[in-house]
Amino acid sequence: MIIEEYDAKSLVRTAKTSLFSWAEVYLNPYQGCEHDCVYCDGKAESYYMHDDFGQRIRVKKNAPELLELYFKKQGFFPVNREKTSTLVDYFPKLREAADSSKTKKFVLFIGGGVCDVYQPAEKEVKMTRKLLQIAYDYKIPVFFLTKNTLILRDLDLLKKINEDTYACASFTITLADEKKQKIFEPNASTSQERFEAIDKLRSEGIHSGIYFYPTLPFIGDTDENLNAIYRTAKEVDAEFIYCWGLTLKPGRNKTEFMNTLKEHFPDIYPKYKILYGNEDKYGNLDRAEFKELGLIWPEIKGYKLGYELGLDYTSERYVPEGRIKTNLELSALFQRLAYLKSFFVKSSKYEIRQLNEAARFLNTYKRDFSKLNDEEREQTVIDYGIMHYIEDYIANRESEALENLEKFSYESVCNYLRTKE
Ligand code: SF4
Repeated sequence: MIIEEYDAKSLVRTAKTSLFSWAEVYLNPYQGCEHDCVYCDGKAESYYMHDDFGQRIRVKKNAPELLELYFKKQGFFPVNREKTSTLVDYFPKLREAADSSKTKKFVLFIGGGVCDVYQPAEKEVKMTRKLLQIAYDYKIPVFFLTKNTLILRDLDLLKKINEDTYACASFTITLADEKKQKIFEPNASTSQERFEAIDKLRSEGIHSGIYFYPTLPFIGDTDENLNAIYRTAKEVDAEFIYCWGLTLKPGRNKTEFMNTLKEHFPDIYPKYKILYGNEDKYGNLDRAEFKELGLIWPEIKGYKLGYELGLDYTSERYVPEGRIKTNLELSALFQRLAYLKSFFVKSSKYEIRQLNEAARFLNTYKRDFSKLNDEEREQTVIDYGIMHYIEDYIANRESEALENLEKFSYESVCNYLRTKE
């Protein structure tokens, strides 16, 4: 394994929130990933990563400086740092005033698509730990998604952050069978180890859930695998399971995957050739062939299992300091409604677009929506037809409409699956 350090020009990126992640800022301190998962989307040419992605790890050695610089530019102060080299060190009372609770904070995703920040190299480099310490110093909530139990090394910091604000340490788990898992994720912790890590994190009060992603057609989407993952998730007290399918982008991503498939699953290989034969540039499968091959969307089966077991399909949205609680909660509500209406209940494209637009708008809207009068509400971009969701939520601080829709989605999914038996 080659570990190469370099000075990066930039580090921090902003992101749109989605059910996948409520984090609004993310960073990749590494380029390349020793886990070397066969389906890794980060290997796709569109990310401009180096060829030996799994064997050469590039480390942004100035990442801590870049992160601090970013926080300072946002007006944040390292309230939790003992020595700040400012007047606060001499006048401790100023520390309280320096708490930047009036500046808008966000959940920081330490990680992204082109590395796992707890890959084995981290044991030696300790870059993620440095970044986590800075997040703690500046009182920033954090989110992780990893396949490595090395994250438990930083339990002390995760606990401190979680007590102070919010820490969510999530795991990707795609295959319960260890033999199959090792084929596709050769250098990551085993699925069993990841489940145990969730158990540990949850017992320490840290937020944690599962990304059942990508769900591999004919391999990961079997009833056996789905049942095993959802039921073990429940046993270890995971808070949610986000389930999604596989994309294979033409080029390195697809070629590597198909070669492995041919070697280990020769019977399934021809089906993938048909399923992903469309060479879609985003790696999406061919929907007509999907139907022809008799497949069922893993999201559908997953939703049913999750509903029955009381496992949420996404994490709860945390509201960071300085943000308007009602607006962010409403934004999350609209994203949930849009998701359910897109996947499980036939709804008009117009309504789904309106829900998504309302979610985007509320995410950044500067006034508390619950305090607007009728005339002011009408002047916003929120469509009159979906305003009742807001009224329902503001009146009860929970959404009966969402609860009903979740139940209705469950019934629709059950009916659909019955027709496939
Ligand atoms: S852990 Fe994530 S980033 Fe690393 S190789 Fe696997 S899929 Fe890619």
